[in-house]
Amino acid sequence: MKVTVSAIKADVGGIGGHTRPSDGLIAAVRGVVQSSKDMLLDHYIGYCGDDVHIVMSHTHGTDSEKIHKLAWDAFMAGTEVARAEGLYGAGQDLLKDSFSGNVKGMGPGVAEIEFEERPNEAFTIFAADKTEPGAFNYPIYRMFVDALSNTGLIVNKSLARGVVINVMDVEGGRIAELEMWQDKPLLEAALMYPGRYVVDSVYTKDGEPILSASTDRLHNIAGTYVGKDDPICMVRTQKMFPATEEVGSVFNNPHYVAGNTRGSHNMPLMPVRLNSAATINFCIPIVEALVFSMHEGRLTGPFDGFSTPDWDLVRERATTKALEMRSQGFIHPATLVPSELEYAEGYKAVISSLDKKMVPMAGAAAAVKEGGVDGSGARYEDPD
Ligand SMILES: [Mg+2]
Repeated sequence: MKVTVSAIKADVGGIGGHTRPSDGLIAAVRGVVQSSKDMLLDHYIGYCGDDVHIVMSHTHGTDSEKIHKLAWDAFMAGTEVARAEGLYGAGQDLLKDSFSGNVKGMGPGVAEIEFEERPNEAFTIFAADKTEPGAFNYPIYRMFVDALSNTGLIVNKSLARGVVINVMDVEGGRIAELEMWQDKPLLEAALMYPGRYVVDSVYTKDGEPILSASTDRLHNIAGTYVGKDDPICMVRTQKMFPATEEVGSVFNNPHYVAGNTRGSHNMPLMPVRLNSAATINFCIPIVEALVFSMHEGRLTGPFDGFSTPDWDLVRERATTKALEMRSQGFIHPATLVPSELEYAEGYKAVISSLDKKMVPMAGAAAAVKEGGVDGSGARYEDPD
């Protein structure tokens, strides 16, 4: 049986800031989805920080207008409640006034895969808040390329052959198909820079889809810097794919990612329990693991992947790393580099005021002529 799983998420309002949706907002989203449940095999609704996610299993394929419109209508209903309750950022991820065929490019993030259902279908959805799609670069690398993190890459025949990883260039609106293992250095060069290159999808060598991530919004608005978009991704697990524990454990080293308050800082990605609010402790980036089983499209779960006691230690480490980074305030690398801050109007205004105060230094003209001061920050050395 061919089934499609669509995970569609949007931020349409938070209580008192970018914390979490209200119960009323969630109820409104749920109401719309349930009123159209005839077109679905099953569904689940939850949230990660201020982002609501709708997980739907159905038989309409990927990019289905019906399914995308349902999610759009549900988020619109959530927005109405958010406005009525005065929630912060009401409707902020709904960039268009009316639905036009596909939610991609209209604000919401989409991870969806169509596949022939296995007898014991298993998949995990990772939903994150206060970060960007590049936040998944490091964990996805550990999942599919790093045998020190995932022994399955040695002992699982399908994974040992290597996978195909599609990497998107956020700035150029381009995509590259990278085949493991021959393209490993190319992949590493790309993933090194999560602000520019992000993983879009992963397939087996036989073309079986394993992973889909929400990168389409970035693609559709390429040309303007829109890197900060809270991501969601879906990974199929078990058998010819990584084991559930192999995809979960790659989040056990809370690495630094771009995002958090004002989307302008680097902070560790903290694994949290399902339906967690974003912390008001400078809103540390968070990620949730929704672990599902599925049979004939009916979902069992989600089991809360980061709820077991061992993750408390990881959360503690993430908090320690977050406080360490915050202890140096606005000095890099606590804040993002200027090229990634460029979308922040406030930052641009301050820098342009600084620019107006800048006057040429004596001797600077000569230095420029000799190539000593070239804007790269290299210091001019007086030849005398
Ligand atoms: Mg968010």
